[in-house]
Amino acid sequence: MRNSIVVVGAGAGGMMAAGRAAETGADVLLLERTNRPGNKLLLTGNRRCNFTNTKDLEDFVTMYGPSGRFLYGVFGRFFRDDLLAFLERYGVGTKTEPDGRVFPSSNRAEDVVSALQRYLEDGGVRLRTGARVTSIQIAKGRVTGVEIDKERVPAAAVVLATGGASYPETGSSGDGYSLAAEVGHNIVKLRPALVPLIVREIDLAKSMQGIALKNVRLTAYQCEADRIDPFLTLTADYGRGLSSRKPPKPVIESRTGEMMITHFGIGGPITLLMSLAVVDALEVGPVSVAIDLFHTLDHAQLQQRLQREFDRHGNRSLRNLLDGLLPHKLVDPFLETTRLLPDRLGHQMTAEERERLTRLLKSLRFNIKAPLPISAATVTAGGVSLDEIDPKTMASRLVKGLYFCGEVMDLDADTGGYNLQAAFSTGWVAGEEAGHAVLRKTK
Ligand SMILES: Cc1cc2nc3c(=O)[nH]c(=O)nc-3n(C[C@H](O)[C@H](O)[C@H](O)COP(=O)(O)OP(=O)(O)OC[C@H]3O[C@@H](n4cnc5c(N)ncnc54)[C@H](O)[C@@H]3O)c2cc1C
Repeated sequence: MRNSIVVVGAGAGGMMAAGRAAETGADVLLLERTNRPGNKLLLTGNRRCNFTNTKDLEDFVTMYGPSGRFLYGVFGRFFRDDLLAFLERYGVGTKTEPDGRVFPSSNRAEDVVSALQRYLEDGGVRLRTGARVTSIQIAKGRVTGVEIDKERVPAAAVVLATGGASYPETGSSGDGYSLAAEVGHNIVKLRPALVPLIVREIDLAKSMQGIALKNVRLTAYQCEADRIDPFLTLTADYGRGLSSRKPPKPVIESRTGEMMITHFGIGGPITLLMSLAVVDALEVGPVSVAIDLFHTLDHAQLQQRLQREFDRHGNRSLRNLLDGLLPHKLVDPFLETTRLLPDRLGHQMTAEERERLTRLLKSLRFNIKAPLPISAATVTAGGVSLDEIDPKTMASRLVKGLYFCGEVMDLDADTGGYNLQAAFSTGWVAGEEAGHAVLRKTK
């Protein structure tokens, strides 16, 4: 018992922590509530597992927002190259996509899970599945073990690696938050992050459902949709990891790229990236978004472009003209929002009608009602307060012998491999520190 470590949760962070703790010479028991390790890892990156990114360290940490500073020490000890070397050691080749995201070259998340399982076997880690930890035992401010229902499992150190509360079917249903809170830790409010958003104009969304919009600008505003200034043309992107400059009020974030319209609202890459800022802004007041379908042209330039089209093809219907400018499936529902007659001919369009069209093409608006719930989010923001964790060791500042890694902490990042790199790096450090600590005690 004196040199034994219990790691709670066999996800990305927990498997790395258990393997590393075993490498230091400690006796390690890994407890997993489901019947197999790495359930969530298998789903990552559309089952291809985007486990890190090629960004420089300075830019890398900005992807976690202000909490990124917490990771400097950890990344100094185990970062991307260490993870690549680790995977190579277990025969997992890797490849980098043009946008900097790194995947196994096989495109198989299973290969990463198998590598971690072999790491556990090599170190002699005992894995017990179907074991849901229900409490952490402490005496005189120090960890003494954990409980699985009424069964007591003694331990000199415990690593809490239970993940977030998203995708609970993978086993990560938020247990770690209550386990940590019961031993005195503060839990920063949990919020869904990287999550699709529900709009109030549900009929409009339904009419556009399934449409993918490429190369558009999505801007979120802290106001009702009808208060958005249609003449505001942003030329820079604003958001986590993008710019330290603050956007002009009432803009919350603005990003260019790809998004989707769904039967309940909006989703797709740029929506997910700005969703946490929107979720936090909804706490303050109304939030709306505007989609700029022609973000490379300002208002006047778009008006000129439309005028050229109308002059050149004066006998074509508006529907026909828009078909050449917008994704085919968007034309009819878009026309409905303009309240212009689809069969109106180009040369019949009045100045007021052209202006209405321009405004809507530059600013297709929705009021945001809510995000989808945490269970449907890619990651959980919030968690065990970083103020109560030593960033050098991942050790609890409140309970001796307790360590944390991964998403259970108040750490989350954008898409791109940052969440997994953080889970692996904090897992490696938590495992090593727990190992050294229990072995020091036995000497
Ligand atoms: C669909 C999807 C795709 C994603 N894609 C990516 C991606 O490509 N790149 C990226 O960087 N991130 C991605 N993420 C996020 C990433 O998967 C997580 O941030 C990461 O897995 C967190 O690792 P973790 O070890 O903290 O927790 P998890 O991997 O969630 O593991 C926690 C483990 O703890 C177990 N557990 C929970 N409670 C208990 C208990 N009481 N007792 C015992 N065991 C318990 C769970 O069953 C689980 O196995 C994705 C997430 C989702 C949902």
